[in-house]
Amino acid sequence: MATETTQTVREFQQFIGGEWVDAAEGAAFDDLDPFTGDVVARVAAAGREDARRAVEAASSAFPAWWQAPPAEKQRVFLKAADLLDSRSEDVGGWLTRETGSAFGFSMFQLHFVSGLFRQVAGLAYAPIGEVIPSDIGQFAMGLRRPVGVVGAIAPWNAALILSARSIAAPLALGNTVVLKPSELSPYSGGLLWGEIFAEAGLPPGVLNIVTHAPGEAQAIGDELVEYPAVRRINFTGSTATGRKLAEAAGAQLKRVVLELGGYNPLIVLADADVEYAVNAAAFGAFMHQGQICMSARKILVERPIADEFVSKLAEKTKGLKAGDPREHDTVIGPLITESALDLVRSRVDQAVEKGAKVLAGGDAVGSCYQATLLADVPEDSEFAKNETFGPVAAIAVVDSADEAVEKANATSYGLSSGIITSDADRGLVLAQQIEAGIVHVNDQPVGDEPQMPFGGVKDSGFGRFGGTAVIDEFTELRWVTVTRGSHPFPF
Ligand code: ADP
Repeated sequence: MATETTQTVREFQQFIGGEWVDAAEGAAFDDLDPFTGDVVARVAAAGREDARRAVEAASSAFPAWWQAPPAEKQRVFLKAADLLDSRSEDVGGWLTRETGSAFGFSMFQLHFVSGLFRQVAGLAYAPIGEVIPSDIGQFAMGLRRPVGVVGAIAPWNAALILSARSIAAPLALGNTVVLKPSELSPYSGGLLWGEIFAEAGLPPGVLNIVTHAPGEAQAIGDELVEYPAVRRINFTGSTATGRKLAEAAGAQLKRVVLELGGYNPLIVLADADVEYAVNAAAFGAFMHQGQICMSARKILVERPIADEFVSKLAEKTKGLKAGDPREHDTVIGPLITESALDLVRSRVDQAVEKGAKVLAGGDAVGSCYQATLLADVPEDSEFAKNETFGPVAAIAVVDSADEAVEKANATSYGLSSGIITSDADRGLVLAQQIEAGIVHVNDQPVGDEPQMPFGGVKDSGFGRFGGTAVIDEFTELRWVTVTRGSHPFPF
């Protein structure tokens, strides 16, 4: 759907070697507003040759950036954080225009990312090794050095956070980066960082950003995986794409960090505060219209409070406003594309045909899908088996905490989870049994802080973004020795 607009269509080039450049073949593609369908920007449409130029620029910039004093690295990130803060209105507007992000989610992303930049500024001063006692009299060290060029592939959904975290720690640790944003958020999940980091004083070539048209991701991904100077790939996106990338990277013996899909359970125990549990469940399921890898998809409630919880959650769900994400009281903005909307619709319709009950929502409104609660979703429905990126959650009633845990773990995914209970000890015991990289006791599954070890298990991927774990992900630990004088050899 296209509407009248006064918004001018911006033109964006790619960012390679510190320059804003057209794609080698001069192509460009349309960047669309998911709510209105308007073209918001024309963006350079790169091919494999552009990716190669970007990797070469990153590779040339690596030695000097690695050796740059930590104070310089720190200054860049502190300045970038201030610059982002000073542009919050403009950047928030872009998140809405490119990804349909409502006001609250945009503000959360902005706050998270300036915090992330301030935290990684300190990484420049993280100790880079240890001295290890040697039985043969050597002066032995475990020394870390940056890996070289890092390829970063980011998605559109939490465009600002997920692109920022794909570049921040790698750069702060002395690597150089080629970022490939999603074709659906080339500016707010990509090119924006070229503007901010150039102004913050990052030297040319240290960060490069290659944008591509829909359907052209693989060529860029292949170049990142196959070019020898790229030593790590980090990827956030679907499990299907992550699996392909990991296979290709495996053939090149390259390490990857993968944060993939989720089918996140929210367990509500009988001792929960029902009002709190209802608010937590609605937030966990419907924030950013359920297009978050951590969104609560499966709500498991213990029978003694099930009737009250379900009726209150259904009532709250029906009251969530779907519509224009520019209006500050909108909770449910548009789904990212028409095909995403079609997929959600077809999964809900199929579950209903197979016997699921609709407790709230269940239909599309323009480019939005209503916040939807389903009950009795059959196990053989597509919705039950696959992550569905939309504002739809399935509720099931359970007879015990053990049954809840068993149902929570009955998925190939393992990203995030929540257990609402007023008994923290019991919650902690159950947390140990949940097969997920993230468990929140007395909270829902959606949440992030830059210093936390964020990541999944099973089909949700491996490796960790955030916290000190990034030091292992984005540096090489090497054994370096010094022999004083000489020692005898056996022959
Ligand atoms: P989502 O469904 O969340 O958009 P995708 O896995 O399709 O997840 O997309 C996440 C990121 O992966 C995007 O930047 C997209 O362009 C990129 N991507 C998609 N296919 C490939 C591929 N074959 N190789 C490399 N990157 C890809």
